[in-house]
Amino acid sequence: MYEKVKKIAKQLIPHRLIKKHEDKLRGLVALSYKGNNVTCTVCDNSFSKFIKLENGDLLCPNCGSLPRTRRLIELIEVENNLEIKKVLHFSPPKGFREKLRKLELGSYITTDYEGEFDADKRLNIEAIEETDNQYDIIICYHVLEHIIKDEQAIGELYRVLKQEGVCFIQTPFKDGDIYEDYSITSRTGRLEHFGQEDHVRVYSVEGLKKRLEQKGFVVEVLNFNEPENKKGFAREVVLKAIKK
Ligand SMILES: [Zn+2]
Repeated sequence: MYEKVKKIAKQLIPHRLIKKHEDKLRGLVALSYKGNNVTCTVCDNSFSKFIKLENGDLLCPNCGSLPRTRRLIELIEVENNLEIKKVLHFSPPKGFREKLRKLELGSYITTDYEGEFDADKRLNIEAIEETDNQYDIIICYHVLEHIIKDEQAIGELYRVLKQEGVCFIQTPFKDGDIYEDYSITSRTGRLEHFGQEDHVRVYSVEGLKKRLEQKGFVVEVLNFNEPENKKGFAREVVLKAIKK
């Protein structure tokens, strides 16, 4: 239903305006999701259910959070002494940004290179303009699959993390080996081969783990095999890369 409303709106209203007013559009749809069956960990609101997108993802009717973002809040909260932790977040979704500000971390810095998200900085992940050993936690979700020099980026993440610092990483994953081919540069080619017009590869969990380890990280693979219906979490894998 949400996507239907959005589709109709798209035909009637310019894209830029929809993006600007998406919260309001979702607010209207949210009225039909009143209830207490499910709760969003990002905005802390409850609903009869989440909005089910065509790809199966469950969207929060209020803040628009995705399952991975709702789980990420819990992953961050299990890290100890958050009030003294310094966090760097690449490409931060809006609701998440607001929630983390409420958590009163030592310092929460957001960055976005492409101008897609509101952020404090515009850091190039291939050459991060920060001194060494700065951050306790880095969040790098759905970023590395866009980066051609990903090994350089991983080295940079390692460099700006403090000793024992943690980087939470996620990308889309496939089985087998990493699939990449830098001769494919067109948007249609990338969509066809890598699943999205601006992706340059598809990682496998093992392949990405290996690249992280080659740069010095110790990697825990967090396998979440069961969905969590009440919070709308999905099956997913998150790599927890620790600087030792
Ligand atoms: Zn929410």
